[in-house]
Amino acid sequence: MAFKIIAEKCAGCGTCVDACPVNAIEMKDGVAEINESACLSCGACAGSCPVDAVQPE
Ligand code: SF4
Ligand code: SF4
Repeated sequence: MAFKIIAEKCAGCGTCVDACPVNAIEMKDGVAEINESACLSCGACAGSCPVDAVQPE
């Protein structure tokens, strides 16, 4: 299962960046973005987001 970040929901807190075990998330213009080629689909980012901006796709 892959995950994506809903840009409109992202509050820019950076929590998911710290939660990702392989540093696959970067902040760009205040919005988190997943680098899909590095992502392991572990779901840690989705579990860490306080506003449910990370969703399975
Ligand atoms: S699913 Fe896991 S590996 Fe992929 S971006 Fe989220 S925390 Fe990182
Ligand atoms: S944890 Fe959620 S609100 Fe915070 S930067 Fe990541 S996607 Fe955005």
